[in-house]
Amino acid sequence: MRMISDQLRRRDITDPLVLSAFARVPREAFVPPELIEHAYDDGPLPIGNGQTISQPYVVAMTVEALGLHGGERVLEIGTGSGYAAAILAAMVREVVTVERIAELAMIAAERLARLGFRNVQVHHADGTLGWPPGAPYEAIAVAAGAPEPPPSLLDQLAVGGRLVLPFGHADHQRLVRITRRSSTSFYEEDLGDVRFVPLVGAEGWPDASHPARA
Ligand code: SAH
Repeated sequence: MRMISDQLRRRDITDPLVLSAFARVPREAFVPPELIEHAYDDGPLPIGNGQTISQPYVVAMTVEALGLHGGERVLEIGTGSGYAAAILAAMVREVVTVERIAELAMIAAERLARLGFRNVQVHHADGTLGWPPGAPYEAIAVAAGAPEPPPSLLDQLAVGGRLVLPFGHADHQRLVRITRRSSTSFYEEDLGDVRFVPLVGAEGWPDASHPARA
């Protein structure tokens, strides 16, 4: 498939588990019908409610950085279209994904069920608080840009686990991998510059459409 050779392999995505997941998940099933001809373009696409399905390469970079082997339980924050959740579900034992916009959560849950992904739970909630009932997680991926790593997500990371998230400014961020070395020690690595929609919530950015009262 062209997307895999031109956008992923050529940019150093080499993990066979990641590449085979991209080969197995039909991206056209995750984009709005009028954008199907662009499903394999090298960029993000609008999915409604002001949100986007991430660029395939950015999903691949995030997922590769999680260092998955197949047996893990993974938490994803920012379900959006459900595409990244499907890629993860094709790779690991169980995926828990959280989306703050009810309509997107509902559409993604239906779509994932229709495509036969039985190892994904979709929840409508504020993902800056993680999903405590499933904690701890061996890997956590965040698909929206945070002002700083949400403490709840650090708490819900297993010792030895990896959290990959973009954080920094509202309109541009660094993608960072945080590895939990012990209950109190975390190790941070910079993976490059990225642009994500904002992570909005109690441990993220305030909701600009409903500003908190002073
Ligand atoms: N992984 C998605 C990309 C979605 S874009 C995909 O493959 O399509 C980021 C998503 O994060 C948006 O849908 C946005 O609504 C959601 N989001 C933003 N803040 C959130 C929060 N606090 N909790 C859960 N989801 C959030």
